[in-house]
Amino acid sequence: MVFLSKEMVNTNPTVMKMKSTYSLLVVLLLQLISFCPSSAQAVGDGKGQGTFLFNDAHFHLTNYVQEGTDIREMLNIMGDKIHRSTLFGIPVQQQWSYRVTGDFAPQYYLDSDAPLYYYSFTDAYIAMAYKSLSKADQARFDPMITGFNPTDMYAAAHIRRVLETFPGVFTGIGEFSIHKEFVSSKISGDVASLTDPALDSIFSFCEETGLLIILHNDVDDPFPKPSTPNYTEDMLKLFKRHPQASITWAHIGLGRIVKPPLEYGKFFEKILADPELKHVNFDISWDEVAKYLMQNDQVIANTARIINMYPDRFLFGTDNVAPSSQEKHLNVYHMYDPLWKALTPEASYMVRMGNYERLFDAAAKRVRAWEAANVGKPKKAPEPTPVSGAPKY
Ligand SMILES: [Zn+2]
Repeated sequence: MVFLSKEMVNTNPTVMKMKSTYSLLVVLLLQLISFCPSSAQAVGDGKGQGTFLFNDAHFHLTNYVQEGTDIREMLNIMGDKIHRSTLFGIPVQQQWSYRVTGDFAPQYYLDSDAPLYYYSFTDAYIAMAYKSLSKADQARFDPMITGFNPTDMYAAAHIRRVLETFPGVFTGIGEFSIHKEFVSSKISGDVASLTDPALDSIFSFCEETGLLIILHNDVDDPFPKPSTPNYTEDMLKLFKRHPQASITWAHIGLGRIVKPPLEYGKFFEKILADPELKHVNFDISWDEVAKYLMQNDQVIANTARIINMYPDRFLFGTDNVAPSSQEKHLNVYHMYDPLWKALTPEASYMVRMGNYERLFDAAAKRVRAWEAANVGKPKKAPEPTPVSGAPKY
């Protein structure tokens, strides 16, 4: 990039002419960077030096015991391969119960039978990590609020308090879970439910503020029997009750043992064609999901066919937790290499980069506007609590 030195910025006609020529060049260069798909800002084939491969729509900086990668180290890991990334912790903490595992300190939810519990401090931790960065580095992250209990009618109040305490930071909420294999039943207190009014109040608050929602909800039960009811219908009803919300259904509903049900492609095409679900998008994050979608040529071709039909509805994310190296962090991206080849160049670009920018930029804009209108403004009277029966959100 060309910059004029201080001495050159004066009223000398020659310098003025030079200045306008340089300005024109800079403008042209910026336009090239913005619109040329093979430029450094956008995506080439991913093989060239200095080209970004993707924006990460699903990323956990910390793990189930709230430990993780230093945010500056994370910037190094993203390097010139990942342009932007979501930034969230894990909403629950695995308890280390000495009675259960003794000296063994569990790191993961499958390491111990001791319960998980909602860990609200994660939001402050993520906000402070983000705020420790320069403005230029902050621009590469979209932090998300996760530390709320979705069975609590006060959950929306927590989310609001986070926005009020850390204005200018958060873009959305999630990834949080309602029905998730192994996890939901392990969390202390009430089990989460898609029909819980507390969840509706969270979604309503996101409609009001513009906070983007990343929800994990398994599409089926682990080891389902034929005709066993699952929770999908309740989930789609929830989405339809909140048409103003910007929703991402994480992992297209799949899990470690929640496999794609039979005819999953057809089921998905129905959802994609439903005009009442146009505000719902899907991330194909997690290596467990890549294993299903990349299992053979026929599945790859069908996945590519559906994404090519609805290229604006899918996002790529890693779903990595506290990665330790760039190589490990890029692993799931490369598991999808056959998909990147099978998609049209336009669809591939949208899934890896374009949809992220469109959705997260739109959400951030709305949230900043809500904050400007609400944060720090004098409150008329104490707000009604749900116990009063008055509607709050
Ligand atoms: Zn995740």
